[in-house]
Amino acid sequence: MKFLGNIALLASLASAASMGKRASPLDVQIEQVSNSGLKASITNTGAEDLKVLKTGTILDSAPVEKIQVFHGSSKLDFMGIRLRVSNAGFDEESFQTIPAGQTIEVSFDAAELHDLAVTGDYDFVANGVLSYAAADSTEIAGAVPYSSNTLTAQVDGTEAAKVRSAFLNKRTSVQSDCTGTKLTATRNAETACRSFAAAASSAALTNTAKVSEYFKSTSVGSTVAAVFARVISECGSSTSGVSRTYCSDVYGACSSNVLAYTLPSASYIVNCNLFFTALPATTNTCHAQDQATTTLHETTHLTQIAGTDDLGYGYAAATRLSSSQALNNADSYALFANAIHVGC
Ligand SMILES: [Zn+2]
Repeated sequence: MKFLGNIALLASLASAASMGKRASPLDVQIEQVSNSGLKASITNTGAEDLKVLKTGTILDSAPVEKIQVFHGSSKLDFMGIRLRVSNAGFDEESFQTIPAGQTIEVSFDAAELHDLAVTGDYDFVANGVLSYAAADSTEIAGAVPYSSNTLTAQVDGTEAAKVRSAFLNKRTSVQSDCTGTKLTATRNAETACRSFAAAASSAALTNTAKVSEYFKSTSVGSTVAAVFARVISECGSSTSGVSRTYCSDVYGACSSNVLAYTLPSASYIVNCNLFFTALPATTNTCHAQDQATTTLHETTHLTQIAGTDDLGYGYAAATRLSSSQALNNADSYALFANAIHVGC
């Protein structure tokens, strides 16, 4: 649980709302459609059609982070899944076009993404950024911010807890799991994750220049090393660790470009088909993706390891973060480990 003062909460909501109105052609309205079920209506108020990226956003059908929820003065932790997306480029089906002047609607259940087990009033707000491409392209051309109304709605905690419980129990219905070549690749990735993390952990204590490059401070080496030490332990224990790894798409989140995802709150990781088909076991290319650093990235999301977020994917985005943000960004650890392995 993260706590925010009332004044800070109101100020952050107000500034986000006013920024969105000035800068964005997107108008987003959130409404309650059932106890914990929400609908977002997204209107393109601009003069041109917008072809926006769905993957990992409020438009994704998977239970990714779509809204922020406040109960009293506290912001609830996000408890859904975090995706790792391939940087090899997107395909058409990853996008949705919102024609100029038109509205699209998306529905989702807030209780799958947050713990709403206490009956009472909650505040819901959707703030974010949607990337877009030109109509005839799948290259990301830019991004537009949006911020919704703040919806205050009463939620019955008992009903919400049932939704959350059903969501978490999905994994018990998984029929097939990691077998054959997928099992071999998953185990090899864990072994490589362990050795990458070991090299990264010692580099974090000795290579101040690299720590500063990726984590924006010369004094956080021991913090970084401690995270890698927990990764070593987790990737090194395929049976006794805190997490479980699946090769079945438990939450239907393995859309195109999704390599893997993690449900940090329930401590498990899913490797999507693309993890096996698109990634080498390890790479010697600077800042490229592979199975080893994807497993390392996902492992840092686990609550018991570092509980990281996805604040910036890839070198350019990750190295623009502040030091405290980088310490909380999964890809910063993956990129650092890759750089130490490659020697770049
Ligand atoms: Zn991630």
